[in-house]
Amino acid sequence: MANGAVRLDLDGKPIKPLTICMIGAGGFIGSHLCEKLLTETPHKVLALDVYNDKIKHLLEPDTSEWAERIQFHRINIKHDSRLEGLVKMADLTINLAAICTPADYNTRPLDTIYSNFIDALPVVSAVAVASIKTVVVRFANAEAAAYYIATAGFIGVSCRTRRSDASVRWSFLRQRNEQELTQNVDAAAAADTCGNQTNSPFVKYCSENNKRLIHFSTCEVYGKTIGSFLPKDHPLRQDPDFYVLKEDTSPCIFGSIEKQRWSYACAKQLIERLVYAEGAENGLEFTIVRPFNWIGPRMDFIPGIDGPSEGVPRVLACFSNNLLRREPLKLVDGGESQRTFIYIKDAIEAVLLMIENPERANGHIFNVGNPNNEVTVRQLAEMMTKVYSKVSGETAIESPTIDVSSKEFYGEGYDDSDKRIPDMTIINRQLGWNPKTSLWDLLESTLTYQHRTYAEAVKKATSKPVAS
Ligand code: NAD
Repeated sequence: MANGAVRLDLDGKPIKPLTICMIGAGGFIGSHLCEKLLTETPHKVLALDVYNDKIKHLLEPDTSEWAERIQFHRINIKHDSRLEGLVKMADLTINLAAICTPADYNTRPLDTIYSNFIDALPVVSAVAVASIKTVVVRFANAEAAAYYIATAGFIGVSCRTRRSDASVRWSFLRQRNEQELTQNVDAAAAADTCGNQTNSPFVKYCSENNKRLIHFSTCEVYGKTIGSFLPKDHPLRQDPDFYVLKEDTSPCIFGSIEKQRWSYACAKQLIERLVYAEGAENGLEFTIVRPFNWIGPRMDFIPGIDGPSEGVPRVLACFSNNLLRREPLKLVDGGESQRTFIYIKDAIEAVLLMIENPERANGHIFNVGNPNNEVTVRQLAEMMTKVYSKVSGETAIESPTIDVSSKEFYGEGYDDSDKRIPDMTIINRQLGWNPKTSLWDLLESTLTYQHRTYAEAVKKATSKPVAS
């Protein structure tokens, strides 16, 4: 942390240092979030991922002043029993792990669904189990305790009786709601026909072990806008009610099942519903984040340099790759889709506010995007071409863009969201957050990074003689 001053939350209360279990910490968003937490806060990070290349600079034991506050665990959450223990050690779990590149959604739909739904289940359940309050039920004698064990309707994971003082300590896998527990306890006491029991048992909730989950979903859960179903020149297409995406009112509109592109959005939607239901039924403290095209340095990879040559990263890295190689930027289906892009550093500010203001963030779903930075993908390509010329000093090639069909580029089963404008009302009201960086500025700093990091390597790779 830059200075030793106590950090205050938005309500002026001191923030206590947290231990954060961050799953997917080695990815694009995770690397920026780790950096922010280590350089600006006193919090500790248990960083989980299968890769750590993007956070290597934070893990060097000798060079970093924060080595004590970050621990890397190489874990695949699909099958690693260490996950539960690490979640238990943390006050807060942030789940970023996912397959989240559009090129995979229709070509690897099974991996996409498993990664975004099935593999996230152990995380949600580990946090839910870790946040269970221990329930202590004390009885007057052993018979009453035995009767209660036989009649109470809970799913117990452990149950110990200390017959000497006739008390029973239960840890429940799921503690249903308080009323149901009280009713069961009352029923057990009232139905005590052993004749030995006179006092009602008492029930104590030990609620000191509060755990939270911040789960990363996506703006793709909104799918297509309502307006996209209107004729192209219909005036209602200009009405914000037909395109602005609101967390609490907008529907989720996906294409048909054969459009496998929606496997990602659908898996993300179901895990959102599960997290929400854990909150509603079992009191899980959660926040769901819906990122709207966060971009910046360290996003994805440059094919053939730090990722597979045949790999297709997200649009920023695809276009960066074309610019670095002096190839035309490929516009899928004319590049007509509209997107809003937000600078990763602005978005990370929003996540930090969620981390440090649980009372304002718990139970909420937040859009995190920049509604002021809307462009078509074609406009993005044109702007990136201009910015790259400025930062690299190279003139643009003669035909800077080329049209390709989505079938050619992404394969069978591709489909797209037409437009994504986030409504900012909820995040603004709860956390007072607004994005700051313009599209031009964020592209300038990002493409400066891309040029500095990759230009030499690309030059070397392209000047190598091709093996015959
Ligand atoms: P990323 O691919 O850079 O990072 C994801 C990380 O998760 C990777 O480092 C990967 O190795 C790790 N991971 C995946 N499966 C794992 C597993 N089984 N075990 C352990 N680690 C695993 O992606 P990102 O851009 O940092 O996105 C993070 C989250 O935000 C994802 O859930 C994504 O769906 C969501 N999101 C991001 C954006 C965006 O604009 N960047 C937009 C929408 C949603």
